[in-house]
Amino acid sequence: MYQISRSIFRELEAEILEDRPHGGPPNRERVLRACEAAVHRLTTDRHYFAHPSRTLFRDIRGYFPMAAQLHVYSVVDRYMTFAAEYLATRPTAVMELTGQKLDCRATTRKGTPCQRMPLPQNGYCPSHQHLAETEEVTLVAA
Ligand SMILES: [Zn+2]
Repeated sequence: MYQISRSIFRELEAEILEDRPHGGPPNRERVLRACEAAVHRLTTDRHYFAHPSRTLFRDIRGYFPMAAQLHVYSVVDRYMTFAAEYLATRPTAVMELTGQKLDCRATTRKGTPCQRMPLPQNGYCPSHQHLAETEEVTLVAA
């Protein structure tokens, strides 16, 4: 999974703008860090990360010339979409990647977190699927 951020970086590396003399970490390092942060967030916080491609693009677009923007977005979108699909179709992938046990996103009636294994498509266990439906309705209404 963390190879994905490297792959994005490698495809875009050649187009990163030269550093301007204002100190701080070099542009290349900033781009790599942003890619890593986005992939990390996608892995650990996927259900609350609404627009991974747009978010990463917004974070790094300033380090690329105008003429490269479209290419940067298409590379970012290709890898982030791939990563999201990978995580959505492999229920145990997140656990393998982060070492964290996956728990259902719901809270039980006692107020403790539900600890059943969630379904990959929405992060709720089979008995809390109705919460995912409410969530979708809320999104449509918003
Ligand atoms: Zn549950």
